[in-house]
This record gives sequence, structure tokens and C-alpha cells, in this order.
Amino acid sequence: SICYLNGRFLPVGEASVSPMDRGFLFGDGAYEVIPVYSRRPFRLDEHVARLANTLAAIRLPDPHSAEQWQAIIRGVIERNEWEDQSVYLQVSRGADDKRNHAFPKVMRPTVFLMSEPLVTPPEAQRQAGVAAVSAADFRWLRCDLKTVALLANCLLRQHAVDQGCMETILFRDGFLTEGAASNIFVVRDGVILTPPKSHLMLPGITYDVVLELAARHGLAHEVREILEDEVRHADELWMTSSTKEVLPITTLDGRPVGDGKPGPVGQQMHAFYQDFKNTVMRIG
Ligand code: PLP
Repeated sequence: SICYLNGRFLPVGEASVSPMDRGFLFGDGAYEVIPVYSRRPFRLDEHVARLANTLAAIRLPDPHSAEQWQAIIRGVIERNEWEDQSVYLQVSRGADDKRNHAFPKVMRPTVFLMSEPLVTPPEAQRQAGVAAVSAADFRWLRCDLKTVALLANCLLRQHAVDQGCMETILFRDGFLTEGAASNIFVVRDGVILTPPKSHLMLPGITYDVVLELAARHGLAHEVREILEDEVRHADELWMTSSTKEVLPITTLDGRPVGDGKPGPVGQQMHAFYQDFKNTVMRIG
């Protein structure tokens, strides 16, 4: 596949970055994952805005304007063969001549983008729902930033995989935060619940779309802090992300969620999400 590295498009096998790069040495950088349907990036403005926000918060001078980012992303999409793609974008604080925690005097960010085929959950998985486990959220206190320092998220996702599960649902101080790589929605007594945006979770692009769709279609929903106990006695749980879309979780720590089958509210939301996506992308 064709990637983009510091101004050039080239085969990913030919791209290389210095081992002195701070992305490699310190996990010092920001990233985005943008879903592409029928060659059209979904919610591109929002992804580019979230990137700018992360870069500003980590004091990494943004090397590009929003228009330039959009052009680079479209450049990657058009050079790759797949109709549906998952575009990965990373900006690191670049290389220095010494390993030094403090920033280089002159920052030359490393900009890397690549594309992979977008694989959304297969129908059988959607019909059955997926299994999740829980864990204490031991990440730092800036989970709102999409940084490449993902060791905690990797350990937490592997914790699920080790138990044959798809996702780890995280609790901090007795409250739901999110998943290792997704946001979490809860349905109780017909009401859709999800935690408010804060420094404790990533402001998901899919999370925003789901809340917009709930409002547009008049589904009862509430954004508020959610107790661990409310999650454990939920009628439905969903995980949301750009690549998983809206995916039902049907077991948590080996116990069934509700009746153990994907629930009606989640199925409705999945249908609304697909309709919305197809309308926005003018496909289907
Ligand atoms: N939370 C975390 C920790 C994530 O890594 C992700 C993305 O994969 C999400 C939430 C969902 O965000 P989005 O809907 O923007 O993909």
C-alpha cells in the first residue's frame, strides 16, 4: 500500500523513520484513524479538528492547516486500491540528536499516514454480539488526547483478548469511563446513557454521531456519570468507534448483558448509523 511520509507518497515498505524519533523513544505524538467509505472520508472535518486539538494540548506545532491535512488524507485515499479504507495518521515531535525528555529547540515533526482496508464487524458478530471484560482504568488523566502513547490501552485490550473477548470496559473510582479503544453506551429502561466528555475519556467521533442520531430520532438519552453497578445491570451495552461503528456487547465478565442477545435500541441505532453514513456518503 502507499503511505505518506514528510511530504512524499511512497510504498509503505520503502518508508523509514529515524530511531531517534520521539514517537519511537517517548511515544511523543498524536494520531487519528479516519474511516473511508466508497473512497469518501467520514466526518473528516471532525477528525482534523480533533487532531489540531491534540497537537495544541501537547504543544506540538501543527505542521499543516486543516485544508492541507484534508489534501494529504485525500492523497492517501486516492493512491490506495480499496473502496473502504481505514486511514491512520500520526504526527510525532520528530528526531533530536540526543535523547532528552525536554522538547528539541527546533521541532521538525514527523508526519506519517497509511491506509488499510476498512474491516467493519461481520454480520454474524453483530447478530451474536461480542464479549467484554472489565478492568480498573489505570491510564493517565489526559485520556481526552489522542496520543500515540498507547501502552496502557494495549495492555487493557490484550487483557480482553487473553480471555477470548473483544473489549475491556474501564471503570475509574466506581464510574464508567470508556473501552480500551472505544466509547461505551448503556441502555437502561429504554434510555440510552453515556458518560459526559471529560479528561477521563476520548471524545469519540462515533460517540458524537450516536448522540446526534438519538436526538434527531427522538430516542430517550442522557449524558451523565454512570455507576459501575448500572453497567453491570444494563439492559444493553454497546461499544462505538470509527471501525467498530455501533457494536452490541452481550456478555460482561462472563455474565449475560440483559437477556444475552443484542437489544432493540442498539439494533435501531445501528440501522440509523448505517442510514446516516449512506446518506452523508451518498451511497447505497
Ligand atoms: N476511546 C478510545 C480510547 C479509542 O482509542 C477510540 C478509537 O478507537 C475511541 C474511544 C472511539 O473514537 P472514534 O469514535 O473517534 O473512533
